[in-house]
Formats: sequence, structure tokens, C-alpha cells
Amino acid sequence: MHSLDTYAADKLERLGAASLLRRLKPTRRSAGAYVERDGRKLLSFSCNDYLGLAHHPAVKAAAQKAIEVHGTGAGASRLVTGDHPLLSELEARLARLKGTEACVVFGSGYLANTGVIPTFAGKGDIVLVDELAHACIWAGAQLSGARIIAFEHNNTDHLAELLAEHRSSARHAIVATDGVFSMDGDIAPLDWLSAVCEANDAWLLSDDAHGVGVLAEGKGSAALFPEAQVPLQMGTLSKALGSYGGYVCASQAVVELLKTRARTLVYTTGLPPSAVAAALAALDIIEADPALTALPLAKARAFTKAVGLPRATSPIVPVIIGKAQDALDASKALEAEGFLVVAIRPPTVPAGMARLRIAFSAEHPDAEIARLAELVKPYVKARA
Ligand SMILES: *Cc1c(COP(=O)(O)O)cnc(C)c1O
Repeated sequence: MHSLDTYAADKLERLGAASLLRRLKPTRRSAGAYVERDGRKLLSFSCNDYLGLAHHPAVKAAAQKAIEVHGTGAGASRLVTGDHPLLSELEARLARLKGTEACVVFGSGYLANTGVIPTFAGKGDIVLVDELAHACIWAGAQLSGARIIAFEHNNTDHLAELLAEHRSSARHAIVATDGVFSMDGDIAPLDWLSAVCEANDAWLLSDDAHGVGVLAEGKGSAALFPEAQVPLQMGTLSKALGSYGGYVCASQAVVELLKTRARTLVYTTGLPPSAVAAALAALDIIEADPALTALPLAKARAFTKAVGLPRATSPIVPVIIGKAQDALDASKALEAEGFLVVAIRPPTVPAGMARLRIAFSAEHPDAEIARLAELVKPYVKARA
């Protein structure tokens, strides 16, 4: 056996023994938050398509029309010939939604975070990261070459202490956090974080992947804190907007610098026109229908009330199980009842904190949410 294969096989065996093996499962997503797996139809509580826009007729039609007009691929990186006109239209719309001067669209949310942090931090700088922030924030911080310092989850006092200790020895400081935490569903105190950053000349980066389209009438998590200054507002087109891609909304100067220096924009092909057109159509729907944007959170709150968990603050509700294998078993039991609720295990969440991550969609029928709540209640009680 080739040493490469031996290495892979050994590693797989160890991961399997620890219930940490992950496998791709072909899944057909259809309208109404239903999915088909292994020939079975399940109601999904694991998709991030919070508003069901990936199957919305107007969004699909916009993508199809863009293919007819602009073709299937961008053909080159944006700085060469891949900057098709739909991109600047989308950037203007996102900047308007977020109330910033400008916006730059990236190939994905992951590429946005791995592009923005190294553009504004490097050797001699510090990047302070909430310990529960998304993996691509950590990846961006690592790529930057700056010193990375974790602060306790949503703990602004700890952040202030760390800045007091380290800020003066660094040239620039970035503070990076999820706006809505992807595995816990809680919200970063952007008002307090902003105050600490302003007092220490640190640049606040908030990742609104799970806020845009579903919080504050679709404007996202930063809009919940009108006093907060968030100079770097990153997000994704891949969740509530039902498409694919990422963005950073910021001042004109910051966006101009990203467009000329962010390596994940410069050295990768521009988004396909269909993805951009779909996001534009999704924004039309979000801006025209605030009641739709409020539904995922309202449904999450109906669920937390029914199972006796603290009131949901976003459409994401974690039900902590503990051991990885127990979380897998719980997920399997729900699947037998017709629900897809994927178990989330380490390293995505800390060891001993494996969980069911339940994501609510505008499309979930209330009666099915009530049925899910009955099934999940025993797990909540067991941890209480
Ligand atoms: C999903 C997610 C991303 C990545 O966005 P993609 O567009 O899927 O690459 C970034 N940050 C957070 C918090 C996420 O949940």
C-alpha cells in the first residue's frame, strides 16, 4: 500500500472509532423544506435556506434568464473579464440593505472571510477572535500571519482585558465574530463589541451569514444595534438568499482595497451570473416582504416555547446532547419520524457538546414543528 493510502486509512479508522467520521449523503432538496434521502422524504431542519428562496419561482427564473443572457460561467477572475454587470448591481443592492457606502462580492462566504482578514492584518498585527466563531474566520486569521488571540464567547470584558494587554504592541487590531453564531444561534453583542473596539482603535468584523434575510426585516444582525459601528460587515448569499457567494459591506476605501488586494477575489474566477441574478431576485423578495423574513425566528420561538428552552434569538436552536454517538442516535430517531435534523459533532463544536442543530424555515408547517417539539422534549429534559 502506498504510504499516502496507509495514512488515510489509519486516520479514517481512528475517526470512525471516535464516532467522528463524516460521510456525504446524496440529498435531493425540493420546495417546502422537504428533502429526499435514500428514497425517503423528510422534512429538513438542517438547511440554511431560511426563506425557501432556492426554490422560489422568481429566483429560479432570474437565474435561468441570466444564463441565457450572460452564459453559465464568468470566464475569468473579476479583475480580468469576469466582472459581469450583475455583480455591480448586486453590490449596490447589498450596500443599500446594510447601510454602507460600498460592497464587494466574493465567490463564497468562506472566501470573503479568508480574503478580508489578510487584507487588513498581517505580521505585527493582532486578530482577536470569539472562541466560537466560524471556521472560515479562523482560517482567514491564520492566513493573515497576524497573532491570533481567542476571547471568551461573547465576553466583552475579556476582550477589553486582552486589548489592554496586547493592543499597544500591535500595529493594527481586528476583532472578528459571528453576528449570529452558526452552531448556537445566539447573537454577538455588537453594541458592546463596537464600544470596546472604538476605545482601542480595533476594527470590528462581523459575520452575518445567519442574520441577513432573517433578522431586522432582512437587514441582518448589525441592524439590531443601530448604535454599533461595524466597519467590516461580511455575509453570505448562500443561506437565506438561496444562492451562492459571499460579500463584504464597508466604506468605499475599504471596498476598493479589497478589490485590488484580497487574494480570494483576485486569484479566483468570478461568481457565475446565475448565482448573482438569483441573489438579486432574492433581495427583491426580502425587501418587499418583511413578514416573510420574520417567519423563521417566529417559528424557532414557537419551538423553544414548546420544548422549554430559552427563547430563540435567531432561527438556529441548538439542543445539546453531549456525546457524539448519542447525538447521532438522536438524529437517527428523528429521521425515523420523518425529520432530518443533522447531528453536529466535534470539531465543529467543542468536545462533549455534540448537538442537534435545528434551523427553522419560513416554510415549516406549524403542526410539524409541534410534532418535532414533542420528540425533542425528552432530550431537553435529560440535560435540564
Ligand atoms: C456558512 C457560513 C459561512 C460560509 O459561507 P459560505 O457562503 O457557505 O461559504 C461563513 N460564516 C458563517 C458564520 C457561516 O455559517
